[in-house]
Amino acid sequence: MKYIKICAQALSRWILTQKSTVKASDSRLSGMVATVLMMGFGVATAFGITPGTDTRVVHILPVIEDITQSNLTPAATPGIYSQQDQVHSGDTLAALLFRMGVDDQAALEFIRTNQLARGIYQQMSPGKPIRIQRRANGDLIPLHFPRSEDKTLVIERIGAQFQASEIAVGSIHRVIHTSGTIQSSLFAAADNAGIPDSVTHQLSRLFSTDIDFHNDLRAGDTFSVVYEASQDDFDQIKAGKILAAEFVNKGVAIRRVFFDGVNGGDYYTQDGIGARASFLRSPIEFSRVTSGFRAERFHPILKTWRAHQGIDLGAPTGTPVVSVANATVAFAGWRNGYGNVIELRHANGISTVYGHLSAFANGLRNGAHVRQGDVIGYVGMTGLATGPHLHYEFKIGGIQHDPQGHDVPRYASTSLTGRAKSQFLAATAPLIKELDAIRGSALAKFE
Ligand SMILES: [Zn+2]
Repeated sequence: MKYIKICAQALSRWILTQKSTVKASDSRLSGMVATVLMMGFGVATAFGITPGTDTRVVHILPVIEDITQSNLTPAATPGIYSQQDQVHSGDTLAALLFRMGVDDQAALEFIRTNQLARGIYQQMSPGKPIRIQRRANGDLIPLHFPRSEDKTLVIERIGAQFQASEIAVGSIHRVIHTSGTIQSSLFAAADNAGIPDSVTHQLSRLFSTDIDFHNDLRAGDTFSVVYEASQDDFDQIKAGKILAAEFVNKGVAIRRVFFDGVNGGDYYTQDGIGARASFLRSPIEFSRVTSGFRAERFHPILKTWRAHQGIDLGAPTGTPVVSVANATVAFAGWRNGYGNVIELRHANGISTVYGHLSAFANGLRNGAHVRQGDVIGYVGMTGLATGPHLHYEFKIGGIQHDPQGHDVPRYASTSLTGRAKSQFLAATAPLIKELDAIRGSALAKFE
């Protein structure tokens, strides 16, 4: 394999959203989140990106969600110091607090003796965040420590006494904007841009109908992505779904925006054309075509010229294989030559075949229903195979077609029209503006 130097420029913008006074029932809330997020973009855009600096701009947006009140907001009170640090290897609690400027024997004594508070000693693993406020004389006011995924331990000074309690972890919704430039692979560029893997996977899936991420990528291709994230009391960020993305492949820009319409939301082109792939471009993420679809080829084992009525996708044994579309399992078992093989029956007389599998997914059997993207089995080399790969066939009316050819239907979802389309255009206009803004600044920066 060729070695290409990886060098991705990343441009990140952070948008912080504030606490809301809005209270809404849970069901209304999720719809509102998207709407208000989008409204917020207008505000964010007005700030623009600080030219020439290292690009981390914090925008404060209007409120979004009924967020659990947190006591962690840094106090602007004079004489009160707020600080966050983390447990270092070998730290004692006293050493850690001392590093943060806390000099408070009474607080330490309380933590040692209070049943709830002393739990902190068992959880002092390196990397754990801790947040405190203290007075100038070293008196601890509150201390916050992550107890579990959803609980924070709070130790507070109440007058001359201390008190320990657990509160639900508060979170702040954010929208994160990032862009990158491809030098070798999408994952390398995404890594460089600080994009979490979960977002990169979404990105590749989002564009997989149009771009084959192994064969179509070119150095200099760029991408921009706007995604949701939540940030907890200790500034740890969890990525959510992509709201908008652009991929410029070989000079051609493709965009996708999320619209929270009827069925739980979906992705569209910026003109409101449904962009959900009818069939994923490949049943394996980031595979490599080792043998294409050909009328004839020399079979490496049978030593004869034979048609190759599918494509071979090279991937290590155990790599998950996913269903390219919703389907019913027509066959899952052993067939000569194919080894462990699955045949899926899709709508409109289309079926797909997955051969040489090392194993089937749990619960996969004839007649089972699978959804697009579900793992159905794992790459292997059962049957006639010289090495681990997936043999993949795409059949229309029982006849094999090139899975990467033009016979494969592209988009499954329908386009928006009428009122739905005007709602879509209104709701997504800020996202489009954001993509324009990211691209504008990216060009300014990289050219
Ligand atoms: Zn094959």
